[in-house]
Amino acid sequence: MEARAGPLPMHKLREVSLRAREKVIRMGLLDKSVHVGASLSVLDILVAIYFGRGLRRSGEKPTERDWLILSKGHAVPALYAVLSEAGVVSEEMLEKIRAIDGLEGHPDYRMDGIDVSTGSLGQGLSIGAGIAYAMRLDGTEDRHRVYVILGDGELDEGQVWEAAATVTHLGLRSVVAIVDVNGFQLDGPTEAIKKKGDIAARWSSLGWNVLEVDGHDYEMLLEALRQADAARKPTVIIAYTRRGRGVGFLEATGGQHLDPRRAKSLE
Ligand SMILES: [Mg+2]
Repeated sequence: MEARAGPLPMHKLREVSLRAREKVIRMGLLDKSVHVGASLSVLDILVAIYFGRGLRRSGEKPTERDWLILSKGHAVPALYAVLSEAGVVSEEMLEKIRAIDGLEGHPDYRMDGIDVSTGSLGQGLSIGAGIAYAMRLDGTEDRHRVYVILGDGELDEGQVWEAAATVTHLGLRSVVAIVDVNGFQLDGPTEAIKKKGDIAARWSSLGWNVLEVDGHDYEMLLEALRQADAARKPTVIIAYTRRGRGVGFLEATGGQHLDPRRAKSLE
C-alpha cells in the first residue's frame, strides 16, 4: 500500500468514483455472487476516506498509521475497486474476482491494502477498539484514526453494541465508525427484517459524537471526516445511502446482484 492515498480535489473524487463504480459492475458481471448493491452503496464513503481525507500509512508500528476496517466485508469489491484506483490492485486481478487464484469474496488481511479480515458480521468495531486502545498505550491516538465501516443490517449483531459501549466507556477517540444506512439487508428492507429504531439516537445514547450525512455527497462526507479528525471523543458518521447506487434497476429494488446474462444490455 502506498504511504498515503489522496487527498484529491472534489472533481477528481467524482472521476475516481465513476471509474470505481464501473469496476464494481464489471466484477458483478463476472461473478453473480458479487454483492454489487452493497458495494455501490459504500463506494463513495471509501473514496472519500482514501482519496478525500487520505490515509496515513507510513508508520513502522501498527499503531503509527491509520486503519480502515470494512466490517461489512461482503462489500469488498468496492474496496478492491478503490485499491485499484490507488494502484494497489491490478486490473488483471479485478478480472479474477472470486477465482481460485484471484480475489477473495471477503477481505483477507494477507492482501496488500486490506487491514483486517472481515465478513462474519459484527466484529469490525471490536477489532477497531482493540487497535485504538493499543494506540493509546503507544501514545499515538491523537495522530491516527481507526475507521470502521458497518452496514445497517449489521447493527442487528449484539457484538456491535458491546464494542460501541466499550469505545465510549474508554473514550477511544481515534475510532471513527461509519454506518452505511442503505435501508436493506439480506434480501429485504431493514425495517421488514428487524426494526433498527432511531439509529443516530442509539449511538448518541452511548456517548458517541454523532454526525449524519448523505453518503453519496462528497462535501458532506469530507466535512464529517474533518469533524471526526477534530473531535475529542469517538465519532460515528451515519451515512444515508442507496443500495446499488448508479445502477437504476438495483436502486429501484434495493437489489444486490447482477445477472451476468444481462451484461449485453448494460454495455
Ligand atoms: Mg444495508
